[in-house]
Amino acid sequence: MKILIPVKRVVDANVKVRVKPDKTSVDLANVKMSMNPFCEIAVEEAVRLQEQGKATETVVVSVGPAQAQETIRTALAMGADRGVLVQTDQAVEPLAVAKILAKIVDEEKPDIVLLGKQAIDDDANQTGQMLAALLDWPQAAFASKVEVKDGALHVTREIDGGLETVEVKLPAVVTTDLRLNEPRYASLPNIMKAKRKEIAMKAPGDYGVDIAPRLEVVKVAEPPKREAGIKVESVADLVGKLKNAGVL
Ligand code: AMP
Repeated sequence: MKILIPVKRVVDANVKVRVKPDKTSVDLANVKMSMNPFCEIAVEEAVRLQEQGKATETVVVSVGPAQAQETIRTALAMGADRGVLVQTDQAVEPLAVAKILAKIVDEEKPDIVLLGKQAIDDDANQTGQMLAALLDWPQAAFASKVEVKDGALHVTREIDGGLETVEVKLPAVVTTDLRLNEPRYASLPNIMKAKRKEIAMKAPGDYGVDIAPRLEVVKVAEPPKREAGIKVESVADLVGKLKNAGVL
């Protein structure tokens, strides 16, 4: 069983982002970038399936700038076998990423495409679903447990009030939720080993995909500042203040 893992290079989750003065996007100058956390979870799951003898090959793909090679190397150091970078300096929207991934799926013929449920920069939560639609494959989004059973996957999903388990026939698209696993840190020997693993360099044009944006960002704004809290003397005081504020 072969697994394809699309990984996105995004602003590190611990960075407090700043909006550019012209309010068109966030400022990426000198900002630490890392692998999208949900993609790390996807890499971890694929590597675990490989360690359990359930997967035979894991291929990582990223669409992004030359520096996304570092993101791919991180995945290779975690245990993935090889990488593909589809290099572009343009921002690529989920539909274009999904179209490129669909072409790579045609070439690589994986049994599972394991994506993050969302990229924490644009919070789109679209790529996996669009890819499943383009391929006409079954999809199981927001996986919190993945089991391989008789040529199919049993995927458990956290839904309102409980857990839902769905069965999808392979090949399938799966997207990872936060509680699927805890990604490992790559060991130094594995980081060294990853330097020798292959990364194929490609361009969007190699797949005949037009990556011109379809969406226009109208405005990006900071969230409203939180007002300072106040101390109350008693429960009665608290209830009175909540009533005055129209909360009760
Ligand atoms: P999104 O739909 O943008 O929230 O992203 C969901 C998932 O799609 C991510 O966690 C990645 O697995 C994949 N993805 C999105 N953009 C890219 C990209 N530029 N390169 C590789 N994978 C991507």
